Parts: sequence; structure tokens; C-alpha cells
Amino acid sequence: MPVTDNEATGAAPASNEQLKKCQACGRLLPREDFFKHNKSEDGLMCECKECVRRRHEAKKNVSRNPLAQFTARQLMDELSRRGYKGELTYTEVKVHKMKLGEM
Ligand SMILES: [Zn+2]
Repeated sequence: MPVTDNEATGAAPASNEQLKKCQACGRLLPREDFFKHNKSEDGLMCECKECVRRRHEAKKNVSRNPLAQFTARQLMDELSRRGYKGELTYTEVKVHKMKLGEM
């Protein structure tokens, strides 16, 4: 049977059954790109390793920099409310960096 053959090799990355969709980034990735999670139905976390790592990084950034927990819009609103026009550009750059880390 060719089916058992495929299962035995398990080397076909194109097979849909071996791919899992990451709930965070929406990419279809091989199961090995997901951390194991005993409580989930398929035994894997719903987010890929990359997203989990990025989420951890984002959390670290929040504890290091309290501003990181705000969205760009919230920061802009707060800053313009306080009249910090001069620092707006600087903050924009920081927020942009943070966003990249979360994606
Ligand atoms: Zn992901």
C-alpha cells in the first residue's frame, strides 16, 4: 500500500496533515515548528515556536519598558495630550521596533 509507505517515510512536507496553522501568525508550518502542549487536542500549542518566542520577548520588553504595553495610537494620543510634540518622532521609532517584535 502506498499510504503506509508515505506514513513510514514521513518526509513529505507538502502534506497538509503534517502542517499546522499558527493561530498567531496564520502561517502553515510543520508540526515540529510548534512546541508540545499536553492540554491541547493535537498535543501542540496553537502558536508556532517563533510566535511563542516573540511573545516572550514582547513580555520582557514590557517589564523593561512600561511604554511597550501601549499601542502606537495610545502613545500618540497620550503624548499629544501632554504636548510632547518634540518627542513624538523618537517615540514613533521605538513603537515601530516593538511592533516588529510582536509580529
Ligand atoms: Zn506563528
